Amino acid sequence: MPASLPSLTDAWNRLTASAGMALLFGVEYKRRMRLLQWCMAGSMYLGAGLVMAAGLEEGWTNRTLYAGWLAFVGAGLLVSFIAIRLGWTAHLHDPGLTTWQIVMGCLAVDWGYLMCGPLRTIALFPLALVLTFGAFSLSWRRIMGLAAFALLGLLAVVAWLQVQPSLKGTWPATAPPLDRINVGMMLVLMPALAVMTARLSSLRGRLRQQRSHLSSELDEARLLAEVDMLTGLPNRRALIERLARFERDATEGGAPFAVTLLDIDHFKKVNDVLGHAAGDELLAKFARVARDSLRGGDVIGRWGGEEFLILTHGAADPSATAVIDRLQRATFALQVLNRPVTFSAGIAAHRAGEDVSQAIARADAAMYEAKQRGRDRVIVSTD
Ligand code: GH3
Ligand code: MG
Ligand code: MG
Repeated sequence: MPASLPSLTDAWNRLTASAGMALLFGVEYKRRMRLLQWCMAGSMYLGAGLVMAAGLEEGWTNRTLYAGWLAFVGAGLLVSFIAIRLGWTAHLHDPGLTTWQIVMGCLAVDWGYLMCGPLRTIALFPLALVLTFGAFSLSWRRIMGLAAFALLGLLAVVAWLQVQPSLKGTWPATAPPLDRINVGMMLVLMPALAVMTARLSSLRGRLRQQRSHLSSELDEARLLAEVDMLTGLPNRRALIERLARFERDATEGGAPFAVTLLDIDHFKKVNDVLGHAAGDELLAKFARVARDSLRGGDVIGRWGGEEFLILTHGAADPSATAVIDRLQRATFALQVLNRPVTFSAGIAAHRAGEDVSQAIARADAAMYEAKQRGRDRVIVSTD
């Protein structure tokens, strides 16, 4: 499959993650993404400002109003940048200040329409873009409200131009009814645009919901794949992964470890006399006791049936033996059929360069020997 093109957010993330940029945009991912939206708005104002400046020379764009426009836009951008960058907006319902930026965009368009004289139609173009910013985070109600605000603003400005006809400029000599045409076009365009934006926004919301649902399902699937449901301990599959990690640490860092296999004695009798449910209960109880007996960093898991595998840091003797002896005493306190619960265990210290399966085989042989010698004992492999 061909490598996909990096998205705009990826590129922005990489750009702003560098140490030099951290001062300007901060280190928090979400805040940097909000400032990306701010930068897009900022570059739009810059471009629009340059285009409208083209009319200054000819006298089409009103100088005083243009200077006021620059001051308004500059101050608005500065305030929103500071508020987002310093995290003042982080706890708001709209932390990217999207609504405020759209309102500011609408006012900038109205202002542009007022000051551009015969060129005023160009001031309307950015209005379409301004509203689409809402697709990232706003509810459809808010988007419809902002579209209505944009239309009302335009109507107010057109009405003002009737009061102040000098602002319309004198070019061309036979001027078409520009304002009526512009208002008509916007009345057609804005509702459709608002509906499109609202649909995009709800689509985004649904995607976000699905993603969080999927991620919690994935967590659950991962748990089911790695945890033994009866005992709550890592299952055989998870143990194999831990074994590989212990082996890697031993090879790379020289940290020794030991493998212990243990099997509960006469377990079948519990099932036969008290029933399968009692056998299950004993396994769960043993798992709780075993977990409490281990040191932090050591691992116990269910290898199968009533057999458990334990991974302990350090040498077999005295480190692992001390852990297993403690477990033996704790298990002894669990009484079943008027007898203490016992197990037989085999311990094998992993040898440098040895395949971990060989260590398991040696632990298994030692455990078998413990059974042969009458059970309820721990044997350290000396092979
Ligand atoms: P030994 O001292 O030689 O280990 O004898 P034992 O009776 O413990 O060993 P054996 O292997 O003969 O029997 C183990 C029994 O464990 C057989 C199987 O039915 C039972 N068993 C395996 N998994 C479970 C389980 O999840 N729940 C219950 N209740 N029993 C299980
Ligand atoms: Mg057994
Ligand atoms: Mg067994």
